[in-house]
Amino acid sequence: MSLLVVGSVAFDSVKTPFGEVDEVLGGSATYFSTAASYFTDVNLVAVIGEDFPEAHVQFLSERGIDLEGLSRQAGRTFRWRGEYSYQLNEAKTLDTQLNVFESFHPTLPEAYRDVPFVFLANIDPDLQLDVLNQVKSPKLVACDTMNFWIEGKRDALLKTLKAVDILIINDGEARELADEVNLVKVAKKILSYGPSTLVVKQGEYGALMFTAHSVFSAPAYPLEEVFDPTGAGDSFAGGFMGYLAKCGEVNDSNIRQAVIYGSTMASINVEAFSLDRMRALKQEEIASRYQAFKALTFFEEY
Ligand code: AMP
Repeated sequence: MSLLVVGSVAFDSVKTPFGEVDEVLGGSATYFSTAASYFTDVNLVAVIGEDFPEAHVQFLSERGIDLEGLSRQAGRTFRWRGEYSYQLNEAKTLDTQLNVFESFHPTLPEAYRDVPFVFLANIDPDLQLDVLNQVKSPKLVACDTMNFWIEGKRDALLKTLKAVDILIINDGEARELADEVNLVKVAKKILSYGPSTLVVKQGEYGALMFTAHSVFSAPAYPLEEVFDPTGAGDSFAGGFMGYLAKCGEVNDSNIRQAVIYGSTMASINVEAFSLDRMRALKQEEIASRYQAFKALTFFEEY
């Protein structure tokens, strides 16, 4: 089944202990849709400026991503600049320029209004809700956000969360959103805001999925080389939602598999800067990393 995403398409400038890149392809919706495109049809809603190169548009199009909802407007593309220390789990944001996103009010293409699966990637929560309200009767809605919006637009974010089934968020941001330290208490509080499922991404420590009655834990793949953690969260969400959309329904078994497909895509993405690792990625590599996750956590009955 098809999947709609709204989020940022960006120029990222990133510094990690292993190198530095300037104005490369990035953005929450870019990472998400590229990862999800390995599983299902993706419809992208975002805005780019006059300065966005045709080659990047071509890349997304070659991944089979539907770009009818990608609007080019007068002005500059969204820009984000961040830095990571040896503690690769958290980016320090040095600069955020919303640019064309400041005045973006999309009207969804008619063909996008019936999509069953929706992902509200990290972007202004007012824009997330605006897009969601144009989808007729979505089967599953998931969402991401970050401290920039938790601090700058908390009320709008809480309104969006009321309409969301699954929140996928970093541990630090989950704690900030709930104003609690303990993750079990964080989960209880966030589930009271609207979502019935919370996925907490913990970088190199993996991911935890909470519902009112269960907890599922997935490790992160122990990689020898991590070059650039940028986009790990969005690639996780792309693998997670892409797999659920491919299944066409959500149950306890496939949502756990989705967490592992999410972890698989995140672990692959961080092996290179920007989206470079996903440029020539093969389905066999995804399947083999998924199997490696299975081996990593398998143990016998007592
Ligand atoms: P992550 O998957 O959490 O590493 O997200 C990284 C991506 O988020 C980068 O490619 C950025 O362009 C994008 N990003 C950073 N800040 C924001 C923001 N305030 N709104 C939307 N996207 C952002």
